[in-house]
Amino acid sequence: MVSTSSFKTTKSEEIFTNAQKLMPGGVSSPVRAFKSVGGQPIVFDHVKGAYIWDVDGNQYIDYVGTWGPAICGHAHHEVIAALHSALEKGTSFGAPSLQENILAQMVIEAVPSIEMVRFVNSGTEACMSVLRLMRAFTGREKIIKFEGCYHGHADMFLVKAGSGVATLGLPDSPGVPKSTTTSTLTAPYNDLEAVKALFVQNPDEIAGVILEPVVGNAGFIVPDAGFLEGLRELTKEYGALLVFDEVMTGFRIAYGGAQERFGITPDLTTLGKVIGGGLPVGAYGGRADIMAMVAPSGPMYQAGTLSGNPLAMTAGIKTLELLQKHGTYEQLDKITKRLTDGLLQAAKDAGHSVSGGQISGMFGMFFTSHPVHNYEDAKLSDLTKFSRFHRGMLERGIYLAPSQFEAGFTSLAHTEEDVDQTISAAKEVFASL
Ligand SMILES: *Cc1c(COP(=O)(O)O)cnc(C)c1O
Repeated sequence: MVSTSSFKTTKSEEIFTNAQKLMPGGVSSPVRAFKSVGGQPIVFDHVKGAYIWDVDGNQYIDYVGTWGPAICGHAHHEVIAALHSALEKGTSFGAPSLQENILAQMVIEAVPSIEMVRFVNSGTEACMSVLRLMRAFTGREKIIKFEGCYHGHADMFLVKAGSGVATLGLPDSPGVPKSTTTSTLTAPYNDLEAVKALFVQNPDEIAGVILEPVVGNAGFIVPDAGFLEGLRELTKEYGALLVFDEVMTGFRIAYGGAQERFGITPDLTTLGKVIGGGLPVGAYGGRADIMAMVAPSGPMYQAGTLSGNPLAMTAGIKTLELLQKHGTYEQLDKITKRLTDGLLQAAKDAGHSVSGGQISGMFGMFFTSHPVHNYEDAKLSDLTKFSRFHRGMLERGIYLAPSQFEAGFTSLAHTEEDVDQTISAAKEVFASL
């Protein structure tokens, strides 16, 4: 373990100071800037397995995993080897390739709702495209989303959004025209009555309901018993589509995602993160009759120069192959349970009020004893305590998401020793809070 007195970040500070002159906030994506936890971010040099090394040579156990994709561990040798041979054949085709068929077949076999799939380059792109498809298919404009859920940064979704919007406490973003969000209705997560009321108030106008079936962008929040079932019934009753945004949960909490885990099949699904194996990929898919609307098969336009990129497809294929091995999700579940049980117990032993949990390799902890069912509950967490906890862990070589409103991730590369080391670091930090 890094002793805190030897923790030096001189080079990180120098690079990040320069970055702030070059890029807004010094970053390419807001939460990375550590605004909500204070202090400067560390600048990465390289990653491998469960670990990160920064430019000053400090080593960390990583629980961000590049926000989810690194489920097999960073820079897995088989993924790297597959990428090396794909690279020899070129970096982009802008034309059909066999790799697309292979990954498409794997996704269709794995995810219960997906009969056909379209590849894009990010989760944001997947969600904005699926929204267009929801509207194209139903001929209706309104959608329902949930407070604290994040579906990427497209205009229509920047209403009570999670992730960086929640982290920075931003109101709806300037630059988003009112006209693009008037059709976005919102309800508190886990509140079926609120959803029902919206359907009653807007008969024949709601194209569908989109949600994170397990929330990771308002911190880690699980669906209450009956919530997903209730949404499935309500959407059927009102002729609307049910869309699971599984950009985070897909191939993460089970091979077939939350829909496999909870046994609820939506009409459409978005994917990203894990299916790119660390390269930029997103996807949306679902019922074949709905997907038939997408160009050039149907009239709904959506396209992409780099979509189906052979390197990205290759990293995705290899990652899913590794995940198909026997016992991978049991292993993720076991290691992550050891981590969250240990952290929650250590916090309680030190007299802190906490709540939290995990499903497979996705976890979270809030500094509140109040059970967290929605974003309002999540906001009860003691954010000052969280930022001090985050800093203390960083100084002890543990890299956690720099925001209370993000989930944590483990990988197949995390060992019991890594987890136990993390818990002993947490004991020290909890004692100092
Ligand atoms: C990360 C995420 C997105 C956005 O994906 P990007 O690749 O960052 O654009 C959308 N929805 C959910 C649930 C996510 O976790």
